[in-house]
Amino acid sequence: MHPTRAPISLTHHRWDQSTLYSDAGAVHNRRMQPEQLALLAPVLLPFVALLGACMGSFLNVCIYRIPLELSVVRPRSFCPNCRRPIPWYLNIPVLSWLCLGGRCRYCRAPISARYLLVEVLTAALFLAVALRFADRPLLIPVYWLVVFGLLLGTFVDIEHLIIPDRVSIGGMLLGLALSPFVPLLHDTTDHWQALLRSGIGCAVGFGTLWLVATVGRWAFRREAMGFGDVKLMGAIGAFFGWQAVLFSVIGSSFFGSFVGIGLILCGKRQLQSRIPYGPFIAAAALVWMFTGPTLVRMYLRMLQPA
Ligand SMILES: [Zn+2]
Repeated sequence: MHPTRAPISLTHHRWDQSTLYSDAGAVHNRRMQPEQLALLAPVLLPFVALLGACMGSFLNVCIYRIPLELSVVRPRSFCPNCRRPIPWYLNIPVLSWLCLGGRCRYCRAPISARYLLVEVLTAALFLAVALRFADRPLLIPVYWLVVFGLLLGTFVDIEHLIIPDRVSIGGMLLGLALSPFVPLLHDTTDHWQALLRSGIGCAVGFGTLWLVATVGRWAFRREAMGFGDVKLMGAIGAFFGWQAVLFSVIGSSFFGSFVGIGLILCGKRQLQSRIPYGPFIAAAALVWMFTGPTLVRMYLRMLQPA
């Protein structure tokens, strides 16, 4: 079967499929040649996956300890059931959980599959960031940090229905502080311009969701959206700018209603029960991080007649 090469004609617009779905605009901005990257890949990619899995392991510690207000450094990892410390050789990301069959070595208490999921997910997202932004290496460590924060907020919100201030307020401050040093985050080379765009993004993110939360509380006479979500959106604006905020507001409500309706249909939730909203904001922000500029280009191209 051959894909159709003829331009699709919807009303009077004529689009060429290949330009619609390819990342044509970004190719011109590449600084590193693909051949150079291909040479480095076999050495760098396993290292990135390992780094991601280790950060995922640390993330698990943070997800468990931060809501309980425990230190994330001391004491060493221990089994939450029998409290015995876990030696390093039983604390290897991904492998240990699989070898032990998801149970504590000593008391055989089950260890949540979340530990495995977080490690695999972090490794996969670290790899995806490295591959996607290989041509703009300065962005890679910043986006790894964003991935770490969004996953931390997501899993704490799922378990405790709160987003830690370290993620939301910390994210706002970090986004504002890093933007002038990595102006590429805001698609510019000017440090002050980047800081300005970060500030506007933060204000738009915080302001928009504050409005949604306030109107929601007034209309439904109950907490429709937590203040943690408001601060998280501020952080997303600080890192990605105001366009990302608009995308995340729309994207998260789309994901949220999709999953919410699914849960109600499966009988897992009632209409009134609270569903954490942070994970949907985080998911939308990640979609923006990987595809945002491409989506905007596609959208603008759709508006232009050929
Ligand atoms: Zn145990």
